[in-house]
Amino acid sequence: MNEDCIFCKIASGQFGTEFLYESDEIVAFRDIHPRAPIHFLVIPKKHIPKVSDIQPDDEVLIGKMVAVANIVAKLENISETGYRLIFNCGHDSGQDVFHIHLHVLGGRKLNWPPG
Ligand code: AMP
Repeated sequence: MNEDCIFCKIASGQFGTEFLYESDEIVAFRDIHPRAPIHFLVIPKKHIPKVSDIQPDDEVLIGKMVAVANIVAKLENISETGYRLIFNCGHDSGQDVFHIHLHVLGGRKLNWPPG
């Protein structure tokens, strides 16, 4: 846990955030500024600042994050209509929170390519 990290604090339950999913390794919760009718984030409890910091030991965890995205997408009823998974990594991607998070967006037709 990084004491200065907002997502570490969310994952530890300090803010009382409603979790759409929780396991010993991963939580999912709604994005506070949704960019689509359904927009939630999947994060590991482990503090990893950027996707480029992922180590070989983390690869199973990253796979589990995708599995959780699929589980919650089903709960949110967007499995059939479709959804997009996004990891922003670093400055040029627009990453604001330096604790890896998988954005899951759906509930409308999404534009491609993204901006
Ligand atoms: P990124 O630009 O990829 O770093 O995205 C960070 C995301 O975290 C943004 O979509 C924010 O709206 C979201 N966010 C920041 N703080 C919170 C919070 N306290 N609860 C839920 N979502 C948050």
